[in-house]
Amino acid sequence: MTITPNRVRAFSHREHEYHQEGAHRPHRSEHTVQFYETDEFLVRSLGRFIREGLETGESCIVVATGAHHQRVETYLLAQGVDLHPASKQGAYLALDAEETLSAFMVAGSPDPARFTSIIGDIIERAAARGHPVRVFGEMVALLWMDGNQAAAIELERLWNDLRDNPYPFALFCAYAMGGFVGNKYSAAFAEICRQHSSVIPDENYTTLGSEEERQRAVTLLQQKASSIEKEVAERKAVEDQLRVALAAQRQLEERKNAFISMASHELKTPITSLKGFTQVLRQRLQTQADPQTLLFLDRMDVQLKKLTNLISDLLDISKMQTGMLAFRETIFDLDELVRETVENVQAAITTHHIRLRGETQAQIAGDRDRLGQVLINLLTNAIKYSPRAETVIVRLRSYDGQAEVSVQDFGIGIDREQCERIFEQFYQVADPVHTYPGLGIGLYIAHTIIERHGGRLWVESEKGAGSTFYCTLPLLKNGSVASSSCEQRESHNATRREKMKRENRADE
Ligand code: ADP
Repeated sequence: MTITPNRVRAFSHREHEYHQEGAHRPHRSEHTVQFYETDEFLVRSLGRFIREGLETGESCIVVATGAHHQRVETYLLAQGVDLHPASKQGAYLALDAEETLSAFMVAGSPDPARFTSIIGDIIERAAARGHPVRVFGEMVALLWMDGNQAAAIELERLWNDLRDNPYPFALFCAYAMGGFVGNKYSAAFAEICRQHSSVIPDENYTTLGSEEERQRAVTLLQQKASSIEKEVAERKAVEDQLRVALAAQRQLEERKNAFISMASHELKTPITSLKGFTQVLRQRLQTQADPQTLLFLDRMDVQLKKLTNLISDLLDISKMQTGMLAFRETIFDLDELVRETVENVQAAITTHHIRLRGETQAQIAGDRDRLGQVLINLLTNAIKYSPRAETVIVRLRSYDGQAEVSVQDFGIGIDREQCERIFEQFYQVADPVHTYPGLGIGLYIAHTIIERHGGRLWVESEKGAGSTFYCTLPLLKNGSVASSSCEQRESHNATRREKMKRENRADE
């Protein structure tokens, strides 16, 4: 709760006086709460409370922490008040807050019977001197700071009940204001205030000198309180809107994924029968020796292959988004996979020459087909995005427990700012001059596959200067690396294999 200005106004007048030397005479049954920001302020306030009591011959009971006892004693001594004689005469009783609290706490709550018996007894003995009794209690504050707010409120209630006993006493509590910061304390804070007959705001307000100053402070508080309340309400409204929007977006995303998955499955069936029919047609035409029609059939095949690839990319995306992309792990020779893939891609194109340099001599644990898919994607992109060049270079090497495959082209290149973004889903770099076919998902899939194999995929490029895509994979076995590192990788790969197996099982 924000301190409502009315509340501050209602108390400020009297409470202010309380801090004026000797002005306060607590009523016998008054239950006052003092909020404070700093310990110095509390010590001064408590010191004044004790001194006033002793000067008027009252009996003072102080239930405080060891640190506060010590500081108050020092403070009072500096003021010329020595507590020892008062203590000897029974006019001053110092009790340790933690110890006293533990005497009547049962299972995290104050036990009413024990409290009444223990504290009631102490007060009765003090009252036996025949003078009014005043008590300072810090046990409620300890419970509050401990996060046991319910027990603190309960203890305040027990103190109130006790004040109705045959020996009425003035009770003074103090809470650090820092323990109430945050909206979640609003209700409990209001309850604490309600449990007291008198509330003293912290030193920011009680140290103001004149009525005029206090009125100004209250006005400022009023303005602050209403601004904060308005802001909180606005934020809450925005949060609610956001929550609704997010839920709607999530729903839309789920529907989109379901649609992609369903559409790609639906598209697969007619493509499969189209492929079947082209094969039958090819066999028939071969016997009729019609080269022109056979050429058309070849072109149909190429288009069907493209369509099949697009559909399987779409299927992969939907599987990735639902965490269902399966990997079938084997241990294989990376150089062999790269050589094979380069040959296959080269066989299908006449525009570029793909050069293969170096070797990794690496054994890799992973899904051979999926890693081949990554390489095909990098190679077809290199060809697609370098329409004026004739060469693509694939380099292999091993270093630091990694096998690295890079694909360099001499094509259009990519702006530095876009180099990270091209691995995002559906991201394509806009080209004002040339339109390149594609959906912007190949690199996203490739990146996910490499990451799932514990590797890295990135690009170094500049607009107009070609691009080099790098892909690293952890080595499983390589004669050139130390055996201890091999073992570490083995165990790393074993964990990864286990993970993949679990995912595969989930996929099935
Ligand atoms: P797309 O099907 O559009 O090629 P990708 O995910 O494979 O989808 O690539 C994303 C984008 O990254 C492409 O649209 C293109 O703008 C850029 N890109 C990918 N490879 C290259 C490359 N070798 N040279 C230049 N730009 C590239």
